[in-house]
Amino acid sequence: MRREHGNGKEPSEEMPPGHGSNGRDGSVRSALQWRSNGRNFDYLVVGAGFAGSVISERLAAGLGKRVLLIDRRPHIGGNAYDHYNDNGILIHRYGPHIFHTNSREVADYLSRFTRWRPYEHKVQAHVDGMLLPIPINLTTINRLYGLTLNSEQAEAFLAARAEPVDDVRSSEDVVISRVGRELYEKFFRGYTRKQWGIDPRELDKTVTARVPTRTTEDDRYFSDSFQNMPLHGFTRLFENMLDHPNIRIMLNTDYRDVGRAVTYEAAIFTGPIDEFFDYRFGRLPYRSLRFQHETLDQKMVQPVAVVNYPSEQVPYTRITEYKHLTGQAHRKTSISYEFPTDGGDPYYPVPKSENLQLFKKYEALADRTPNVQFVGRLGSYRYYNMDQVVGQALALYRRMSGSRTRPAILHETANLSPMTAASS
Ligand code: FAD
Ligand code: UDP
Repeated sequence: MRREHGNGKEPSEEMPPGHGSNGRDGSVRSALQWRSNGRNFDYLVVGAGFAGSVISERLAAGLGKRVLLIDRRPHIGGNAYDHYNDNGILIHRYGPHIFHTNSREVADYLSRFTRWRPYEHKVQAHVDGMLLPIPINLTTINRLYGLTLNSEQAEAFLAARAEPVDDVRSSEDVVISRVGRELYEKFFRGYTRKQWGIDPRELDKTVTARVPTRTTEDDRYFSDSFQNMPLHGFTRLFENMLDHPNIRIMLNTDYRDVGRAVTYEAAIFTGPIDEFFDYRFGRLPYRSLRFQHETLDQKMVQPVAVVNYPSEQVPYTRITEYKHLTGQAHRKTSISYEFPTDGGDPYYPVPKSENLQLFKKYEALADRTPNVQFVGRLGSYRYYNMDQVVGQALALYRRMSGSRTRPAILHETANLSPMTAASS
C-alpha cells in the first residue's frame, strides 16, 4: 500500500504504530509524479471507508487496475476507523462499530484481511432508574413490571398492549403495533426524537424496525449468524485490505483538490451524492453526532458495551465502553457519549419519503453522468450497516468485471437478513 497525505497536513498524532504515514512525500504532486512515470490511474476512488476500500481492493487485486484512493480525512477506514488513544486503549473515533452479518460472501471476503474475535453485542437501556435489556425481551418485561412471566405469558402480555395499526408506515407505528404505547414511550420515543431530531411519526418504519422485540431471555442486540469483531481492530483490517502495489492512497485530500490534477478513466464516489452534484436539487438531510470521548481511572464502568438513555432529559443517546467490544485488558477504561446534531459530518441519511424522493432526483442524474459510480451509505443515501456496504461494493465489482452497462447506483447487496435490510 502506498500511503500519502495531501494538503501538507500530517497524519493524526493519535494514530497508533502502523496506522501512520509511510514517510513518503504525500500530495497530489506525488500522484502526478506517479503519472509522469507512466502510471496513469484507471480509477479514482473517493472515500476510504468500507465502500471505497472494498472496491479499490477488488479492482486492484481482481482486475489488475491502478487505483488512486483518496479521503479528505487524515486516516483510512471511514466511520469504522479505530485507533489507540493517548492511554493506549483501542477506541472507535466515530462511535461503536460492531460487525454482524448473515452473508457468508461478506464474512468470507473480510476474513481474507482479518482474524476475528467472537463478540455478541449487548445493550441495556436506562429506564425508570433501572438498566434493562434492549431489545425488549422477557427479562425487560419481568423486571420493569415486577413479574415472573414465561415466554408464552409475555407474548400474551405484549399482545394485550399492542395497538393494531392497519398500515404500518412510521417508526412509531412499528413499535406501538408490537408492544403498545407505554413501552414505546419508555424505550423508543425519546431516544428517536433525540437521535433524529424529529418525531418517530415522521420517520420511516425501517428505522425502529431495526430493533426486534423478543419474548425469550435472548439479550443479544443482533440475531445474525456471524457476529465477530476484527481481532486487531478495523483499521488493521483496512490496512491489510489496501496493501496492494496497484493502490495509491492520498489522505487529507478532497475530491475537488484532485479532480483535474490526475487522470483516470472512471471514478467511484462514496461521499454524499448531493455534495458531488453541488446540491443542484437542494441538500439531502443527514443527521450527525458529536462524540465526547473520556478515559476513566477504573477498570470497567458499565455492565455492557452500550447503555442507551431514552429520556429526553438526558442530552446524549448512548454511552459506549470500548473494552467490552475489543476485549482489551487495561487498568483504565475509555467511553464515549453521543450527542446528536444537525450540523457536522454526515453520518446518517434520514429515512423519510420526501428525502427518498429528493435522492431519486440525484440518482437519475447519477445515471446520466458517465464514468462515475456511486456506492456506500452516503453515495446511495441508505441507512446501511457495514456488511451491507461491503455487499454493495462486491456487487458493484461483479457488475464492473462482467456486464458493461450498469446503473450508477446499485441497491442490491449480498444475501442479507430481513432484520438488517435497509430502507429503500
Ligand atoms: P464512510 O465510512 O462514511 O466513508 C466515506 C468516506 O468518504 C469518509 O471517510 C469521508 O471522509 C470520505 N469522503 C466523503 N466525501 C469526500 C470527498 N469529497 N473527498 C474525499 N473524501 C470524501 N454499521 C455496522 O454494521 N455496525 C455498527 O455497529 C455500526 N455502528 C455505527 C455507529 C455510528 C455512530 C455510525 C455513524 C455508523 C455505524 N455503522 C455501523 C454504519 C457504518 O459506519 C457504515 O455502514 C459504513 O462505515 C459505511 O461505509 P462507507 O464507506 O459507505 O462510508
Ligand atoms: N432506538 C430507540 N431506542 C433504543 C434503541 C434504538 O428508540 O434503545 C431506535 C432509534 O430511532 C434508533 C433506531 O432505533 O435510531 C435504530 O437503532 P440502532 O441501534 O440500529 O441505531 P444505530 O446503531 O444505527 O445508531
